[in-house]
Amino acid sequence: MSLDEHKITRIESFTFRREFPRYMGHNAKAGPHGKTGFEKIRRIHTNQGASGIGRSASPDESVYCFIGCSVENLFDPAIGTVVEAGFLDAPLHDLAGHILQQPVWKMMGARADNSIEIYTGGIYFDDLDPLGSPRGIDAVLEACQQDFEAGHAHFKLKIGRGFKFMETSKGDQRDIDVTRVVRDAFPNSKILIDANDGYTLPRFRRYFEAVSDCEIYWVEEPFMETVEDLEALRAFLNDISPQTMIADFESRNGRNEQPPSPFGRWRADHLAELYELGSKGLIDVALMDVGSMGLTAWRKVMPLLEANGIKGSPHAWDAPLKTIYAAQVNCGLGNGEIVEGVPGLVVGVDTSTYTLKNGILTLPDRPGFSLSIDESQVLEYSDSGSN
Ligand SMILES: [Mg+2]
Repeated sequence: MSLDEHKITRIESFTFRREFPRYMGHNAKAGPHGKTGFEKIRRIHTNQGASGIGRSASPDESVYCFIGCSVENLFDPAIGTVVEAGFLDAPLHDLAGHILQQPVWKMMGARADNSIEIYTGGIYFDDLDPLGSPRGIDAVLEACQQDFEAGHAHFKLKIGRGFKFMETSKGDQRDIDVTRVVRDAFPNSKILIDANDGYTLPRFRRYFEAVSDCEIYWVEEPFMETVEDLEALRAFLNDISPQTMIADFESRNGRNEQPPSPFGRWRADHLAELYELGSKGLIDVALMDVGSMGLTAWRKVMPLLEANGIKGSPHAWDAPLKTIYAAQVNCGLGNGEIVEGVPGLVVGVDTSTYTLKNGILTLPDRPGFSLSIDESQVLEYSDSGSN
């Protein structure tokens, strides 16, 4: 059956509880991230009995206007969602996948295998929590071990304790100690580090010199990027750890569009700057968020990243379902780097067709995103009503 035979008749909204496996603390600049959160899911129905679900957090009135529309006018399987319906980007991908009986990663081109590497993005400053009685570095190792036992094999360590949570030199030394302890405990794991722009170039060089034998896989947002500092960082890494990649563009002042827009919350001129940095060999991996930039925007952007020598790894924190979307993007579009795994689950959203083992996430060969919901777990509900 083709999309033009389907008209949207009803949109339901469900709010579910999101749960991390432990209390998630601070990074260099923000937190704590806590233990629970909320996830808003929309289910779109058509007059042919098809439905699709996905994350969609905008107000009901921003999506009810699409009731009565033909799915074909909102979504093209080869491109994605029209800009005006960007608030329904994820549910429309799922809906089209169910109508066409195709996994999203195949709809996007299946340019990579459906088993991909992921890392846990949930290793925060656990050593500093609770703030009045900090547990020390063992707490970071316990977090790594917990995620390891859940199927993860690779770790992204938050660094930047000296930005505001510790005295600068002590914080920078703690970052070194944590990095070395995790490397020693998990000798076969990829170790990524993420400073959330909490370092300066000179401090970062001192940190990295002390961990340069730790085979750091990538450095993420070491400092607020400038061409001059990135050039210096690249030259430094080439000397001391040439295999280490530079990952960036999760956040910056360009991230302030109001959706719906072609790149969600990202600005076109900011992305143009990214392509230029890639073409100069200064950025290896781009990290725009899979939710706030969107699946359709990633479909537009990934070929341009590839043309400029940049890999993609859509940012997924702090939603386990965003890991699934990021994985679908990378399996579908190719040109991907290791994907951010967000430990935890959404109570009421079944993701059991996905498997995580030894740091490899395997995507199901099933229509759409292959997610289902348990309505008995819903915390809040609204319904456009059927017509
Ligand atoms: Mg980050």
